[in-house]
Amino acid sequence: MLSEKTIVSKKLVVGWIKPQFFGYTATACKVVLDIELREKSESQESIWLKQTDRQIVLMISGIIKHGREVIEAGQISDTLRKVLSQNKFQKLKISKDLLKKLLDVWDKWHRNDLRPYCIHQKSRKFIEIGEVCQECGYVYGSKWLYEPLPDDVIRFVKAL
Ligand SMILES: [Zn+2]
Repeated sequence: MLSEKTIVSKKLVVGWIKPQFFGYTATACKVVLDIELREKSESQESIWLKQTDRQIVLMISGIIKHGREVIEAGQISDTLRKVLSQNKFQKLKISKDLLKKLLDVWDKWHRNDLRPYCIHQKSRKFIEIGEVCQECGYVYGSKWLYEPLPDDVIRFVKAL
């Protein structure tokens, strides 16, 4: 029986992007992130192909608005990295270092319950759907596997 519990649910105002970045002449664009940690209790295999009955899952999504108009929404970490590297934030509500760390955590751990790879395939750069792992026989992309969040990631998200 599936049950879910929310551990962390927060809206984080990251800051405002210079209007010129998106081709506007005025009004900075607000960036807000939705950050959630959820505890699921269901039967799911891990990337070690072991059965688990409890999963802690990270979900992050973002929205960029120009006034009321939504410019981008969803998995926008690439855009935020570009803004950061081009120094196009007009105002940040969190430190640059914290934002960088957050973007890394986002890219690495978002939906850690939907991994197409086993532990052996994780570090491979090029891999095709259907490829069989030489070590454990898992077929890449054949299931969604659970990759547990490291404790420091859980602590980081809770402290945001
Ligand atoms: Zn494997």
